Amino acid sequence: MKIAILGGGISGCALARMLAEDDHDVTVLEKSERVGGLCKSRQIDGFTFDEAGGHIIFSKDKDVLQWQLDRCGGEQNTQKTVRNTKIRWHDRWVPYPFENGVGHLTQAANVECMSGYIEAYVGRRTGAPCPENFGDWIQWRMGDGFARHFMVPYNNKIWKRDLTTMASDWVAGRVPEAPIEDILRSSIGVDTEGYKHQSVFWFPSHGGFEAMVKGTAKDGGFRLVCDARVDRVAKKGGGFEVNGEAFDLVVNTVPLPQIESVIEEIPADIRADIQALEPISLINVMIGVKLDEPLPDLSWIYLPFDDQGPTNRATYYSNYSKFNAPEGHGCFLAEVTHRGELRADDREWLQGVVDGLDRAGILRKEQVVLLEACNNEFAYIDQDLEFAARIARVRDWFDNSGYLTFGRFGRYEYHNSDQCVKRAMQVREHIRTAAASGDHAPLQLP
Ligand SMILES: Cc1cc2nc3c(=O)[nH]c(=O)nc-3n(C[C@H](O)[C@H](O)[C@H](O)COP(=O)(O)OP(=O)(O)OC[C@H]3O[C@@H](n4cnc5c(N)ncnc54)[C@H](O)[C@@H]3O)c2cc1C
Repeated sequence: MKIAILGGGISGCALARMLAEDDHDVTVLEKSERVGGLCKSRQIDGFTFDEAGGHIIFSKDKDVLQWQLDRCGGEQNTQKTVRNTKIRWHDRWVPYPFENGVGHLTQAANVECMSGYIEAYVGRRTGAPCPENFGDWIQWRMGDGFARHFMVPYNNKIWKRDLTTMASDWVAGRVPEAPIEDILRSSIGVDTEGYKHQSVFWFPSHGGFEAMVKGTAKDGGFRLVCDARVDRVAKKGGGFEVNGEAFDLVVNTVPLPQIESVIEEIPADIRADIQALEPISLINVMIGVKLDEPLPDLSWIYLPFDDQGPTNRATYYSNYSKFNAPEGHGCFLAEVTHRGELRADDREWLQGVVDGLDRAGILRKEQVVLLEACNNEFAYIDQDLEFAARIARVRDWFDNSGYLTFGRFGRYEYHNSDQCVKRAMQVREHIRTAAASGDHAPLQLP
């Protein structure tokens, strides 16, 4: 088949490579000057930075992990790091996840967290129903102490909305429940580890996270057209037309609100649903520092409190690969979410970010030799209470329309790049079946 893929992020490039292996004639149309999307990196004055906050390679799926490492030129072209993440809790460094680090809090906070946790635990065991909103879910799952001391301030900082107006269903798979024995052990000072699936991670030695997408496009066997904004897609005859060129099949990976006006057949009610899918944006502040001693062996730090500045997560990015900073230097990424109100070129605001990190003990402001920032309009999915119903209608329309759509914002799934690759594998299977049978059944993704 002659197939057009809209968007050259990891989703589009991964699928293109897979379909080319199956001997399809594949074209990727990417609006910007190069592939990468949210996985892009950039080089400035000898430093390398990821553009959309710190990215790491890890996956619960061994095949996907291997596929991603292969695209980096094999594990030998990556750095493998044992994850060391902490929460900056007032003047303390508390291991992450917070519940596994509870023994590092003050005794008073430890007791508040544990008594609240036990109360919540008993509530759940005696049938307290899972709340539909995220604010109440935090109390139900973690109890009042954990909520007050970390979960509520941290999530307020990221989501920028009243947590009781957010849905809870999306957290279920993302926040695994730690065994209560682990939390009790942590509370009495015996360290335990949470999120074991992510205890080590990989990162390309050279070129930042983007190297993984570049390696996907290189010798991928498909036609890549950059600087090619897709501005007209429609069905024509038995196939499709994209920017005037005929194709047998169209797969979209572009954020739905950015492609909605371009696809002719979308009905008015589905258009309205897509227009209501507002993204949460992210300014990623890129900071180069001159060092008089190596950075501590940390991966990233969560910053829940307002006196730490607007940053919610600071990445020790030169620890991912020593080639991310010139000799004698280090670099950080500071992530700040917003809803369209911040500007990445506001120097005063950027200095405020640095001042916050200085107060939090992450860096010293006099060390800073480079300060830049990058805005990412589509970073997080706004999980309001209507989101699930709205996106279900949108996906249902696409899956039955003959168009295929997937990707973090192409399907609005809160996915990391490994899950985008997994989805690409599933879409490839769907296309294989369709090509073999000639029957275009609706797309069904698990
Ligand atoms: C803060 C943050 C941290 C993250 N951390 C990690 C991590 O540690 N590990 C990990 O694996 N993942 C991480 N992710 C997730 C990861 O970035 C995404 O899952 C992945 O990059 C999504 O890829 P995509 O191809 O689906 O979408 P995108 O990367 O958004 O690609 C869409 C592409 O469509 C293009 N486009 C837009 N409009 C048009 C048009 N009209 N015509 C043609 N092209 C168009 C865009 O330019 C873009 O290249 C993180 C994400 C964020 C925001």
